[in-house]
Amino acid sequence: MNADLTTRFTIEKVAKSKISAVDFENLIFGKVFSDHMFECDYIDGAWQNPRIKPYQPLTLDPSSKVLHYGQAVFEGMKAYKDEKDGIWLFRPDQNQERINKSSVRMAIPEFPKEWFFEALNRLLVLDAAWVPKGIGNTLYIRPFVFATESGVQASKSNAYKFMIIMSPVKSYFRGEVRVVIAQQYSRAANGGVGAAKAAGNYGGQFYPTELAGKEGYQQVIWTDDTSHTYMEEAGTMNVFFRINDTLITAPTSDRILDGVTRKSLITIAEHAGIPVEVRKISVQELVEAAKNGSLKEIFGAGTAATVSPVKSFAYDGVDYPVPPQEDSYSGRLKKIILDIQYNVTEDPFGWRYKVSEENIN
Ligand SMILES: *Cc1c(COP(=O)(O)O)cnc(C)c1O
Repeated sequence: MNADLTTRFTIEKVAKSKISAVDFENLIFGKVFSDHMFECDYIDGAWQNPRIKPYQPLTLDPSSKVLHYGQAVFEGMKAYKDEKDGIWLFRPDQNQERINKSSVRMAIPEFPKEWFFEALNRLLVLDAAWVPKGIGNTLYIRPFVFATESGVQASKSNAYKFMIIMSPVKSYFRGEVRVVIAQQYSRAANGGVGAAKAAGNYGGQFYPTELAGKEGYQQVIWTDDTSHTYMEEAGTMNVFFRINDTLITAPTSDRILDGVTRKSLITIAEHAGIPVEVRKISVQELVEAAKNGSLKEIFGAGTAATVSPVKSFAYDGVDYPVPPQEDSYSGRLKKIILDIQYNVTEDPFGWRYKVSEENIN
């Protein structure tokens, strides 16, 4: 990663916060951003000039490589505020490791861990007022890296920008979703970039998701690219199935993203005595379970929505309802993870990270 870690961050604060102009009751996800952002450049083989400055537009050369060859990766995290105005992150080490793994896959240089954490702590201390209070309300954090070298030569870039921007979001219930199982398109391929949080993975799934939307489905359950017989992810979330009392989710692979929510829910479920199986699950098994009544729940898991219950799935033109459950696993697991994230309960797993002035070098 090649950075001089003794370099001091440059801090430029806003002259006046724009927070009073924000309507916190009517936030649209990811549309409003906090006062400050973090920016750092990779030039001449080293990360340099880490800086915090007022949120503002960028100037990019039209030949910047990201615009032509898509070298870009990102992360999604949240800051949570507790009753006493303490601000917490949830397993941020996982996001820090993952953005570097994603970067390696896209031939982007890794970003130093020390600066990742210093940037987060500095931004969140500065913009603490932007973390909304109340369970379900959060400050969504978006770290991202992209290729900035100018020139359309089809080769990896020699210059990059690492940035962090933050957006306040309010809890809202999207309702339960109807999903369709993919039989034609794929999100990710064997040996491809599906396990990386690469920007293009999202770009590639908008079209099939739009087609599904026209048929009345909000999400696609992606299947393996070779045979379309095994379930892999639901939209941009990992996916869980409950058959009888067993919770089942696919093992991660180079086509499945290693979600922090997924792995945390597995640990929480096991801790709560719920039988968990991490194994491949076929479409045929799911259809049979739906027919014989043993299918109890399907839900997506990811940082943005935490847990997102599915009310029906479609396959081969047939809709299969997922009957509502009393005391559902999705509801139980969501409550446990939120209570940990918001510092409401003990954190038996050591996952909470307290944002603090003391973490700043
Ligand atoms: C980000 C993401 C997830 C969820 O990961 P979390 O770490 O739980 O937020 C799942 N699948 C895909 C494809 C993703 O990009």
